[in-house]
Amino acid sequence: MIPVMRPLLGDEEAEAVAEVVRSGWVAQGPRVAAFEAAFAESVGAAHGVATSSCTTALHLALHLLGIGVGDEVVVPSFSFIATANAVRYTGASPVFADVDPVTGNLTGATVAPVLTDRTRAVILVHQAGVPADVADVRAACGAIPIVEDAACAAGSRAHGRPVGAGALMAAWSFHPRKLLTTGEGGMITTDDAESAVRLRRLREHGMSMSAADRHRSGGNAVEDYAETGFNYRMTDIQAALGEVQLRRLPGIVARRRELAAAYREMLDGLDVRCVDDPPHGEGNVQSFWVLLGDDAAPRDGVLAALAEQGVSARRGIMAAHLEPAYAGHDVSLPVTEHLTRRSLILPLHHELTTAEQEQVVGALTAALRAPAVVSS
Ligand SMILES: *Cc1c(COP(=O)(O)O)cnc(C)c1O
Repeated sequence: MIPVMRPLLGDEEAEAVAEVVRSGWVAQGPRVAAFEAAFAESVGAAHGVATSSCTTALHLALHLLGIGVGDEVVVPSFSFIATANAVRYTGASPVFADVDPVTGNLTGATVAPVLTDRTRAVILVHQAGVPADVADVRAACGAIPIVEDAACAAGSRAHGRPVGAGALMAAWSFHPRKLLTTGEGGMITTDDAESAVRLRRLREHGMSMSAADRHRSGGNAVEDYAETGFNYRMTDIQAALGEVQLRRLPGIVARRRELAAAYREMLDGLDVRCVDDPPHGEGNVQSFWVLLGDDAAPRDGVLAALAEQGVSARRGIMAAHLEPAYAGHDVSLPVTEHLTRRSLILPLHHELTTAEQEQVVGALTAALRAPAVVSS
Protein backbone atom coordinates (compact mmCIF):
# COMPACT_ATOMS: atom_id res chain seq x y z
CA MET A 1 0.00 0.00 0.00
CA ILE A 2 1.36 3.47 -0.88
CA PRO A 3 0.74 5.53 2.30
CA VAL A 4 -0.82 8.99 2.06
CA MET A 5 1.91 10.35 4.38
CA ARG A 6 5.06 9.06 6.10
CA PRO A 7 7.25 11.15 8.40
CA LEU A 8 10.94 11.46 7.53
CA LEU A 9 12.79 10.17 10.61
CA GLY A 10 16.35 8.89 10.81
CA ASP A 11 19.26 7.97 13.08
CA GLU A 12 19.90 11.62 13.90
CA GLU A 13 16.46 11.90 15.51
CA ALA A 14 16.99 8.64 17.41
CA GLU A 15 20.38 9.84 18.70
CA ALA A 16 18.99 13.25 19.75
CA VAL A 17 16.21 11.58 21.76
CA ALA A 18 18.65 9.11 23.33
CA GLU A 19 20.86 11.98 24.44
CA VAL A 20 17.94 13.60 26.27
CA VAL A 21 17.13 10.32 27.99
CA ARG A 22 20.77 9.93 29.08
CA SER A 23 20.81 13.52 30.42
CA GLY A 24 18.23 12.63 33.06
CA TRP A 25 16.06 15.72 32.27
CA VAL A 26 13.16 14.63 30.07
CA ALA A 27 10.44 17.24 30.84
CA GLN A 28 10.34 20.83 29.54
CA GLY A 29 13.86 22.23 29.83
CA PRO A 30 16.88 23.36 27.80
CA ARG A 31 15.96 21.44 24.62
CA VAL A 32 12.50 23.06 24.54
CA ALA A 33 14.11 26.51 24.94
CA ALA A 34 16.55 25.79 22.11
CA PHE A 35 13.84 24.45 19.80
CA GLU A 36 11.64 27.47 20.51
CA ALA A 37 14.44 29.87 19.59
CA ALA A 38 15.37 27.98 16.42
CA PHE A 39 11.78 27.56 15.23
CA ALA A 40 10.86 31.20 15.91
CA GLU A 41 13.90 32.35 13.97
CA SER A 42 12.99 30.09 11.05
CA VAL A 43 9.58 31.75 10.68
CA GLY A 44 10.88 35.27 11.30
CA ALA A 45 9.18 35.71 14.70
CA ALA A 46 10.80 37.14 17.83
CA HIS A 47 9.46 34.53 20.26
CA GLY A 48 8.36 30.90 20.24
CA VAL A 49 6.35 29.27 23.04
CA ALA A 50 6.22 25.49 22.69
CA THR A 51 3.03 23.62 23.61
CA SER A 52 1.75 20.06 23.70
CA SER A 53 -0.08 20.46 20.36
CA CYS A 54 -1.45 23.01 17.93
CA THR A 55 -4.87 22.51 19.48
CA THR A 56 -3.58 23.65 22.88
CA ALA A 57 -1.61 26.45 21.18
CA LEU A 58 -4.84 27.76 19.61
CA HIS A 59 -6.64 27.52 22.95
CA LEU A 60 -3.86 29.43 24.72
CA ALA A 61 -3.80 32.13 22.03
CA LEU A 62 -7.57 32.71 22.37
CA HIS A 63 -7.32 32.61 26.18
CA LEU A 64 -4.57 35.25 26.05
CA LEU A 65 -6.90 37.49 24.01
CA GLY A 66 -9.45 37.21 26.83
CA ILE A 67 -12.04 35.42 24.70
CA GLY A 68 -14.85 33.71 26.59
CA VAL A 69 -18.57 33.12 27.00
CA GLY A 70 -20.74 35.31 24.79
CA ASP A 71 -17.95 36.03 22.31
CA GLU A 72 -17.78 34.95 18.68
CA VAL A 73 -14.68 33.80 16.82
CA VAL A 74 -14.79 33.46 13.04
CA VAL A 75 -13.23 30.25 11.71
CA PRO A 76 -13.35 28.31 8.47
CA SER A 77 -15.47 25.16 8.69
CA PHE A 78 -13.12 23.83 5.99
CA SER A 79 -10.39 22.74 8.42
CA PHE A 80 -9.42 20.00 10.82
CA ILE A 81 -12.00 20.10 13.63
CA ALA A 82 -9.44 21.32 16.21
CA THR A 83 -9.71 24.86 14.78
CA ALA A 84 -13.38 25.14 15.81
CA ASN A 85 -12.94 23.07 19.00
CA ALA A 86 -10.32 25.50 20.35
CA VAL A 87 -12.95 28.26 20.23
CA ARG A 88 -15.41 26.15 22.20
CA TYR A 89 -12.79 25.45 24.92
CA THR A 90 -12.94 29.17 25.80
CA GLY A 91 -16.74 29.17 26.06
CA ALA A 92 -17.04 31.33 22.94
CA SER A 93 -18.96 30.32 19.80
CA PRO A 94 -17.25 29.51 16.53
CA VAL A 95 -18.88 31.29 13.58
CA PHE A 96 -18.18 29.57 10.28
CA ALA A 97 -17.12 31.53 7.19
CA ASP A 98 -16.86 30.09 3.69
CA VAL A 99 -13.57 29.81 1.81
CA ASP A 100 -12.07 30.67 -1.55
CA PRO A 101 -12.81 27.88 -4.09
CA VAL A 102 -9.22 27.75 -5.37
CA THR A 103 -7.07 28.08 -2.22
CA GLY A 104 -9.51 26.67 0.36
CA ASN A 105 -8.65 29.61 2.62
CA LEU A 106 -10.67 32.44 4.20
CA THR A 107 -10.52 35.76 2.33
CA GLY A 108 -11.65 39.27 3.21
CA ALA A 109 -14.75 38.68 1.07
CA THR A 110 -15.75 35.45 2.90
CA VAL A 111 -15.06 36.82 6.39
CA ALA A 112 -16.78 40.22 6.06
CA PRO A 113 -20.38 38.90 5.87
CA VAL A 114 -20.15 36.98 9.18
CA LEU A 115 -18.53 39.69 11.34
CA THR A 116 -20.82 40.99 14.12
CA ASP A 117 -20.38 43.29 17.09
CA ARG A 118 -19.60 40.16 19.14
CA THR A 119 -16.69 39.04 16.92
CA ARG A 120 -13.58 39.00 19.13
CA ALA A 121 -11.12 37.23 16.82
CA VAL A 122 -10.67 35.46 13.51
CA ILE A 123 -8.68 32.23 13.16
CA LEU A 124 -7.09 32.30 9.73
CA VAL A 125 -6.00 28.81 8.60
CA HIS A 126 -3.25 28.30 6.03
CA GLN A 127 -5.03 25.20 4.84
CA ALA A 128 -2.92 22.26 3.62
CA GLY A 129 0.07 24.61 3.73
CA VAL A 130 -1.35 26.97 1.07
CA PRO A 131 -0.55 30.45 2.42
CA ALA A 132 -3.65 32.54 3.10
CA ASP A 133 -3.65 36.20 2.10
CA VAL A 134 -3.35 37.71 5.59
CA ALA A 135 -3.35 41.34 4.37
CA ASP A 136 -6.65 40.82 2.53
CA VAL A 137 -8.34 39.32 5.61
CA ARG A 138 -6.79 41.98 7.85
CA ALA A 139 -8.29 44.72 5.66
CA ALA A 140 -11.77 43.23 6.21
CA CYS A 141 -11.29 42.82 9.98
CA GLY A 142 -10.13 46.27 11.08
CA ALA A 143 -9.05 46.04 14.72
CA ILE A 144 -10.31 42.48 15.26
CA PRO A 145 -7.28 40.31 16.14
CA ILE A 146 -6.27 37.54 13.72
CA VAL A 147 -4.78 34.32 15.10
CA GLU A 148 -3.10 32.32 12.36
CA ASP A 149 -3.63 28.55 12.39
CA ALA A 150 -0.37 27.59 10.71
CA ALA A 151 -0.63 23.93 11.79
CA CYS A 152 0.08 22.75 8.25
CA ALA A 153 2.26 25.61 7.06
CA ALA A 154 5.82 25.14 8.37
CA GLY A 155 8.06 26.06 5.43
CA SER A 156 5.33 27.86 3.42
CA ARG A 157 6.01 31.43 2.28
CA ALA A 158 3.85 34.47 1.50
CA HIS A 159 4.80 37.88 0.11
CA GLY A 160 8.48 36.88 0.18
CA ARG A 161 8.51 35.95 3.90
CA PRO A 162 7.88 32.73 5.84
CA VAL A 163 4.26 32.20 6.89
CA GLY A 164 4.05 33.39 10.49
CA ALA A 165 6.38 36.40 10.01
CA GLY A 166 4.58 39.47 11.32
CA ALA A 167 1.69 37.45 12.79
CA LEU A 168 0.06 38.67 16.00
CA MET A 169 0.18 34.99 17.00
CA ALA A 170 0.63 31.93 14.80
CA ALA A 171 -0.08 28.38 16.05
CA TRP A 172 1.90 25.43 14.68
CA SER A 173 1.52 21.65 14.79
CA PHE A 174 4.26 19.02 14.97
CA HIS A 175 1.94 16.02 14.57
CA PRO A 176 3.35 13.41 12.13
CA ARG A 177 0.63 14.30 9.59
CA LYS A 178 2.44 17.63 9.17
CA LEU A 179 5.94 18.13 7.71
CA LEU A 180 8.00 18.60 10.86
CA THR A 181 7.15 16.23 13.69
CA THR A 182 7.86 15.86 17.39
CA GLY A 183 5.37 12.98 17.77
CA GLU A 184 2.85 15.38 19.28
CA GLY A 185 3.64 19.03 19.81
CA GLY A 186 2.89 22.60 18.90
CA MET A 187 4.09 26.18 19.22
CA ILE A 188 2.86 29.75 19.29
CA THR A 189 5.10 32.31 17.61
CA THR A 190 4.70 36.03 18.22
CA ASP A 191 6.71 39.25 18.05
CA ASP A 192 5.24 40.55 21.30
CA ALA A 193 7.53 39.97 24.31
CA GLU A 194 4.79 40.52 26.90
CA SER A 195 2.51 37.99 25.22
CA ALA A 196 5.35 35.46 25.12
CA VAL A 197 6.02 35.85 28.86
CA ARG A 198 2.36 35.34 29.74
CA LEU A 199 1.95 32.43 27.30
CA ARG A 200 4.94 30.70 28.95
CA ARG A 201 3.28 31.09 32.35
CA LEU A 202 -0.13 29.97 31.11
CA ARG A 203 1.19 26.78 29.52
CA GLU A 204 2.83 25.82 32.83
CA HIS A 205 0.04 26.02 35.44
CA GLY A 206 0.36 29.81 35.72
CA MET A 207 3.69 29.39 37.59
CA SER A 208 5.80 32.54 37.93
CA MET A 209 8.96 30.45 37.53
CA SER A 210 9.40 27.40 35.31
CA ALA A 211 10.25 24.06 36.89
CA ALA A 212 13.52 24.06 34.91
CA ASP A 213 14.53 27.48 36.34
CA ARG A 214 13.66 26.40 39.87
CA HIS A 215 15.80 23.29 39.40
CA ARG A 216 18.72 25.44 38.19
CA SER A 217 18.35 27.77 41.17
CA GLY A 218 19.03 24.86 43.51
CA GLY A 219 15.42 24.45 44.59
CA ASN A 220 15.27 27.33 47.07
CA ALA A 221 13.24 29.73 44.93
CA VAL A 222 9.48 29.75 45.56
CA GLU A 223 7.09 30.32 42.66
CA ASP A 224 3.66 31.91 42.82
CA TYR A 225 0.49 31.38 40.82
CA ALA A 226 -1.13 34.67 39.82
CA GLU A 227 -3.76 33.15 37.52
CA THR A 228 -5.22 29.79 36.54
CA GLY A 229 -2.98 28.18 33.95
CA PHE A 230 -2.85 24.91 32.07
CA ASN A 231 -0.44 22.04 31.60
CA TYR A 232 0.26 22.44 27.89
CA ARG A 233 4.01 21.78 28.06
CA MET A 234 6.22 20.11 25.47
CA THR A 235 8.93 17.73 26.72
CA ASP A 236 12.67 17.91 26.02
CA ILE A 237 12.35 14.51 24.32
CA GLN A 238 9.96 16.01 21.78
CA ALA A 239 11.97 19.22 21.36
CA ALA A 240 15.21 17.32 20.66
CA LEU A 241 13.38 15.53 17.86
CA GLY A 242 12.07 18.89 16.63
CA GLU A 243 15.51 20.48 16.44
CA VAL A 244 16.72 17.75 14.06
CA GLN A 245 13.47 17.89 12.06
CA LEU A 246 13.72 21.67 11.70
CA ARG A 247 17.10 21.26 10.00
CA ARG A 248 15.50 18.83 7.54
CA LEU A 249 12.53 21.09 6.78
CA PRO A 250 13.93 23.04 3.77
CA GLY A 251 14.84 19.76 2.07
CA ILE A 252 11.44 18.25 2.88
CA VAL A 253 9.61 21.25 1.41
CA ALA A 254 11.77 21.29 -1.74
CA ARG A 255 11.16 17.57 -2.30
CA ARG A 256 7.39 17.90 -1.77
CA ARG A 257 7.19 20.80 -4.21
CA GLU A 258 9.10 18.71 -6.76
CA LEU A 259 6.75 15.75 -6.29
CA ALA A 260 3.69 18.03 -6.54
CA ALA A 261 4.97 19.53 -9.81
CA ALA A 262 5.44 16.00 -11.18
CA TYR A 263 1.88 15.07 -10.14
CA ARG A 264 0.46 18.16 -11.86
CA GLU A 265 2.19 17.22 -15.07
CA MET A 266 1.05 13.58 -14.89
CA LEU A 267 -2.55 14.57 -14.06
CA ASP A 268 -2.79 17.07 -16.90
CA GLY A 269 -5.70 16.03 -19.11
CA LEU A 270 -7.66 14.27 -16.34
CA ASP A 271 -10.93 15.77 -15.06
CA VAL A 272 -9.35 17.02 -11.82
CA ARG A 273 -8.01 20.34 -10.51
CA CYS A 274 -4.84 20.18 -8.38
CA VAL A 275 -4.06 22.40 -5.40
CA ASP A 276 -1.42 24.97 -6.41
CA ASP A 277 0.42 28.05 -5.16
CA PRO A 278 -1.61 31.26 -4.85
CA PRO A 279 -0.25 34.37 -6.62
CA HIS A 280 1.12 35.78 -3.34
CA GLY A 281 3.19 32.83 -2.12
CA GLU A 282 4.55 29.29 -2.24
CA GLY A 283 3.08 26.42 -0.22
CA ASN A 284 4.87 23.48 1.36
CA VAL A 285 2.36 20.98 -0.15
CA GLN A 286 1.46 19.56 3.26
CA SER A 287 -1.43 17.82 1.49
CA PHE A 288 -1.67 17.38 -2.26
CA TRP A 289 -5.42 17.60 -2.76
CA VAL A 290 -7.30 17.37 -6.04
CA LEU A 291 -10.85 18.42 -6.81
CA LEU A 292 -12.82 16.02 -9.00
CA GLY A 293 -14.63 17.51 -12.02
CA ASP A 294 -18.42 17.81 -11.84
CA ASP A 295 -18.97 14.91 -14.25
CA ALA A 296 -16.46 12.57 -12.62
CA ALA A 297 -17.40 9.56 -10.48
CA PRO A 298 -18.55 9.88 -6.85
CA ARG A 299 -15.57 10.71 -4.63
CA ASP A 300 -15.98 7.82 -2.17
CA GLY A 301 -16.15 5.36 -5.08
CA VAL A 302 -12.89 6.79 -6.41
CA LEU A 303 -11.29 6.39 -2.96
CA ALA A 304 -12.43 2.76 -2.79
CA ALA A 305 -11.08 2.05 -6.29
CA LEU A 306 -7.73 3.61 -5.35
CA ALA A 307 -7.52 1.48 -2.20
CA GLU A 308 -8.16 -1.63 -4.31
CA GLN A 309 -5.16 -0.63 -6.43
CA GLY A 310 -2.90 -0.29 -3.37
CA VAL A 311 -3.17 3.50 -3.14
CA SER A 312 -4.02 4.94 0.25
CA ALA A 313 -5.70 8.25 -0.63
CA ARG A 314 -7.91 10.17 1.81
CA ARG A 315 -11.07 12.23 1.62
CA GLY A 316 -10.23 15.93 1.25
CA ILE A 317 -10.18 18.50 4.05
CA MET A 318 -13.16 17.99 6.39
CA ALA A 319 -15.93 20.52 7.07
CA ALA A 320 -16.62 20.94 10.80
CA HIS A 321 -20.19 22.23 10.33
CA LEU A 322 -21.19 18.89 8.72
CA GLU A 323 -20.11 16.89 11.79
CA PRO A 324 -22.58 15.93 14.56
CA ALA A 325 -20.51 17.90 17.11
CA TYR A 326 -21.54 21.10 15.30
CA ALA A 327 -25.07 20.06 14.40
CA GLY A 328 -26.51 23.22 15.98
CA HIS A 329 -24.73 25.39 13.41
CA ASP A 330 -27.29 25.70 10.65
CA VAL A 331 -25.22 27.52 8.05
CA SER A 332 -24.91 27.28 4.31
CA LEU A 333 -21.32 27.21 3.07
CA PRO A 334 -21.61 26.21 -0.60
CA VAL A 335 -17.91 26.42 -1.49
CA THR A 336 -16.83 24.50 1.63
CA GLU A 337 -19.46 21.82 1.00
CA HIS A 338 -18.43 21.40 -2.64
CA LEU A 339 -14.71 21.21 -1.82
CA THR A 340 -15.12 18.77 1.05
CA ARG A 341 -17.40 16.40 -0.90
CA ARG A 342 -15.52 16.42 -4.20
CA SER A 343 -11.86 16.45 -3.15
CA LEU A 344 -9.34 13.83 -2.16
CA ILE A 345 -5.75 13.79 -0.94
CA LEU A 346 -3.20 11.80 -2.93
CA PRO A 347 -0.16 10.11 -1.33
CA LEU A 348 2.84 12.40 -1.04
CA HIS A 349 5.84 11.76 1.20
CA HIS A 350 9.56 12.45 1.00
CA GLU A 351 10.55 9.04 -0.30
CA LEU A 352 7.73 8.62 -2.83
CA THR A 353 9.20 7.35 -6.13
CA THR A 354 8.29 8.24 -9.70
CA ALA A 355 7.07 4.66 -10.19
CA GLU A 356 4.75 5.05 -7.19
CA GLN A 357 3.46 8.38 -8.51
CA GLU A 358 2.75 6.68 -11.85
CA GLN A 359 0.90 3.92 -9.99
CA VAL A 360 -1.23 6.53 -8.19
CA VAL A 361 -2.03 8.39 -11.40
CA GLY A 362 -2.77 5.13 -13.25
CA ALA A 363 -5.17 4.04 -10.52
CA LEU A 364 -6.86 7.46 -10.48
CA THR A 365 -7.20 7.47 -14.26
CA ALA A 366 -8.88 4.05 -14.18
CA ALA A 367 -11.15 5.06 -11.29
CA LEU A 368 -12.31 8.20 -13.10
CA ARG A 369 -12.95 6.27 -16.32
CA ALA A 370 -15.05 3.54 -14.75
CA PRO A 371 -17.61 5.16 -12.46
CA ALA A 372 -20.10 2.28 -12.89
CA VAL A 373 -17.58 -0.26 -11.59
CA VAL A 374 -16.30 1.78 -8.66
CA SER A 375 -19.71 2.82 -7.39
CA SER A 376 -21.02 -0.77 -7.24
C1 LIG B 1 -3.55 19.27 12.46
C2 LIG B 1 -4.26 20.54 12.60
C3 LIG B 1 -4.57 21.08 13.86
C4 LIG B 1 -4.30 20.33 15.15
O1 LIG B 1 -2.96 20.09 15.37
P1 LIG B 1 -2.53 19.16 16.61
O2 LIG B 1 -1.07 19.46 16.78
O3 LIG B 1 -2.77 17.75 16.19
O4 LIG B 1 -3.33 19.57 17.77
C5 LIG B 1 -5.17 22.31 13.92
N1 LIG B 1 -5.48 22.99 12.79
C6 LIG B 1 -5.22 22.50 11.57
C7 LIG B 1 -5.57 23.31 10.36
C8 LIG B 1 -4.62 21.25 11.43
O5 LIG B 1 -4.40 20.75 10.21
